[in-house]
Amino acid sequence: ATPMSIIAGIGRAAEFGVLVRDADALQHATSLDTLVFDKTGTLTEGRPRVVAVEPMAGFDESRALSLAAALEQGSNHPLAHAIVQRAGETALPVVREVVREFHTLRGLGVSGEVDGARILLGNSALLKQHHINAGPIADRIKQWSEQGATPVILAVDGEVAALFAVRDPLRSDSVAALNRLHAQGYTLVMLTGDNPATAQSVAKEAGIDRVIAGVLPDGKAEAIRTLQQQGHRVAMIGDGINDAPALAQAEVGIAMGGGSDVAIETAAITLMRHSLHGVADALAVSKATLRNMK
Ligand code: ADP
Ligand code: MG
Repeated sequence: ATPMSIIAGIGRAAEFGVLVRDADALQHATSLDTLVFDKTGTLTEGRPRVVAVEPMAGFDESRALSLAAALEQGSNHPLAHAIVQRAGETALPVVREVVREFHTLRGLGVSGEVDGARILLGNSALLKQHHINAGPIADRIKQWSEQGATPVILAVDGEVAALFAVRDPLRSDSVAALNRLHAQGYTLVMLTGDNPATAQSVAKEAGIDRVIAGVLPDGKAEAIRTLQQQGHRVAMIGDGINDAPALAQAEVGIAMGGGSDVAIETAAITLMRHSLHGVADALAVSKATLRNMK
């Protein structure tokens, strides 16, 4: 391995907006067979929006939104931003609620108390954990999930009060970029904390081969380790703080520029153009560089 050609390879990658940290990164990038993508903010734009609000009978929409937004003000999850934003946009009067006993429930949602009422906001697993009957909303949840939206459920004093559908579109060039990677022979995997049905729908639209969903934040690195134990050589592509351990575990960690600083500091490769085409470019440049050295 001549240092000169490595330097040339790193320079060539930079022309594509791909920052390669060192020779090791370039070398490891030539031997991969599996590419694992975070969903939110990596395959998708990472700016989810509320696309439907459905209050249960006897519960009004503005009350549901103001309760949900009041709780989500304490969270910095992308879903929380979507709900707070929607409450801000609505013409309905959204009352500012005082939240007590606020908790973030990792991988599940948020909880708190408003006017003595126990409020839960999150996914089906959260309802299940609190033994709340999701029967009446099961069809709606299934329908929204199959359409690629993430259902967020509001429960008040142990009963479902409203449902929100939140959608986070794919980046406009994700499909084309993943097509290139498929053509190069890689197996493409999605790794997400979102529910399996929503994840499957988004994966299908993107052209992903395999989905690992419902993963708790701490489970992402473990999922990479499992793939490695099965004999795969893996790149992880992510943007979030909770992707950092998985980026470190993978043979090659690739961070989306514009993502969290922790992800960028952990990754060996950073994509400055916020596009997954950068992954295909990075892998192609690596291979060309190593080939030239033989
Ligand atoms: P991801 O970043 O892939 O969405 P997370 O572990 O952060 O993974 O979240 C997993 C799931 O937990 C989300 O898809 C959502 O259903 C639920 N969740 C987490 N945080 C919140 C929140 N603040 N509000 C509503 N739901 C949430
Ligand atoms: Mg993300």
